Amino acid sequence: MKAMIERAGGAAVRVPAARMLINGEWCEGDAGRVIAVHDPATEEKIAEVVAASVTDVDRAVLAAHRAFESRAWQKMRPLDRGRLLEKLALLVERDAEDLARLETLDNGKPYAVSRNVDLKFAIDALRYYGGWSSKMAGEYIQLSPLGDDGGTYRAYTERKPVGVVGGITPWNFPLGQAVQKMAPAIAFGCTVVLKPSEEASLTTLRLGELILEAGFPEGTVNIVTGYGHDAGQALVDHPLVRKIAFTGSTATGQKILASSARTMKRVTLELGGKSPTIVLADADLNLAIPGAANAIFPNSGQICTAGSRLLVDASIYDEVIQGVAEIGRGLKLGSGFDPAVQLGPLVSSRQLERVSGLVAQGIEEGAEPICGAGRAADTGYFYQPTVLSGGRADMRIAQEEVFGPVVLAMAVQDPQEIRALANDTAYGLGASIWTRDINKAHLLAAELDCGTVWINTHNVLDLAMPFGGTKLSGLGREFGTEVIHAYTEPRAVCMRLQDPVYG
Ligand code: NDP
Repeated sequence: MKAMIERAGGAAVRVPAARMLINGEWCEGDAGRVIAVHDPATEEKIAEVVAASVTDVDRAVLAAHRAFESRAWQKMRPLDRGRLLEKLALLVERDAEDLARLETLDNGKPYAVSRNVDLKFAIDALRYYGGWSSKMAGEYIQLSPLGDDGGTYRAYTERKPVGVVGGITPWNFPLGQAVQKMAPAIAFGCTVVLKPSEEASLTTLRLGELILEAGFPEGTVNIVTGYGHDAGQALVDHPLVRKIAFTGSTATGQKILASSARTMKRVTLELGGKSPTIVLADADLNLAIPGAANAIFPNSGQICTAGSRLLVDASIYDEVIQGVAEIGRGLKLGSGFDPAVQLGPLVSSRQLERVSGLVAQGIEEGAEPICGAGRAADTGYFYQPTVLSGGRADMRIAQEEVFGPVVLAMAVQDPQEIRALANDTAYGLGASIWTRDINKAHLLAAELDCGTVWINTHNVLDLAMPFGGTKLSGLGREFGTEVIHAYTEPRAVCMRLQDPVYG
């Protein structure tokens, strides 16, 4: 395969070779199998990645296990683990433009988004988690023993890293997700095997080059590429992997949870969503209309918290859906290397088929297309920004995650109906409320069954704010102070003290 790919605007993108990072060294897969990687904007083959076998995954896990058990890693000062992450942050910052171009080539998103969102997040996350490395603290506990044996009892807890972490990541924010899994693992003293999505592995592999350059001890971060059903599953099944940190679909999350029961793995699952954007009658529509459009269209709707259901008070329904549709119609689709482009393609032909199928079924079930509802070009996996009106909770598209630039609008009459509809899906990831009435905003926020509620904004994720879902949207939280529970376990140490004076 070519090592450099030329793109419009003179952008030359360096593509990593089909190799995996195991025990600090680049290697090929033992079975010699590779997977073709395509540019979603042109459908051209741009690279190959290794399809790791069970044996490859086993080698990577053993390397991570050896590294975890090694005296050097166990004894490394927490601040020095933080320094490794800081060093990596500096290298990612140095190569940010290069990495952003590669993300755009592999995933399709506009370069400005890759550079200003994905790369910025990855750099911030490395620094944020680097800072956590020295914040692992336990508790001192006074006990109430059942019998008086003359001793005085005290206990303390210390937080221990869980061990080898399997980080399984999706294709919508590939580099950001890889960092989101590896950085807290390293900060808290775990070691990692990353398995990026086969649809978008390239920036994770480039991250591997920088991990070596930063001087991470061998085996502490390993990267295997390949299919979810074999390489991913092998990681989930491996007895030496103590925790799986997964982001992806609910169906795969459920499989992972079931498989993890056998080895009693810890899991954090960040899964799908069907998040409502709720526009109340008193909302400032100058904010709410662009806000609702921004909740669904960026990243071509491939965001787990995307506001894919638009619940609007009946009195302003037409104005809001027409306003969102107008914004959708005005968005420029095309190659992520064209600076005027606002939306790239969907990631794959499979995703294009899925989005097209769900929209077609929604229309068959009675939804009315206000804009979009079709492919946007013959070449490339482009899908038009779409607003469907007349949504009902019993439609498949009202219940299933679409993961495309598609919003289903429903008119709502009163607060009871809003509450009922907002919570009427199997998911519980996010929701936004648009209103000028702070009273209504907080009362409604308290009744929404989901992990994050935004008020007069949507899709704001912050490393300091816990993130995760209720119901089928997942298990556990990432980010914020909650993250320490995801990568460490408390160990209680109980002692009996003998008082020399009182016996
Ligand atoms: P998946 O959930 O299948 O993929 C996510 C990751 O899991 C990938 O690395 C995948 O590998 C891996 N994987 C798949 N099967 C297994 C398994 N049995 N054991 C371990 N790992 C596995 O998502 P898809 O790519 O199939 O996308 C389908 C839908 O999922 C989308 O339409 C969207 O609705 C949702 N999704 C949600 C995301 C979110 O952020 N919540 C992100 C991505 C998708 P590989 O891709 O190599 O098969």
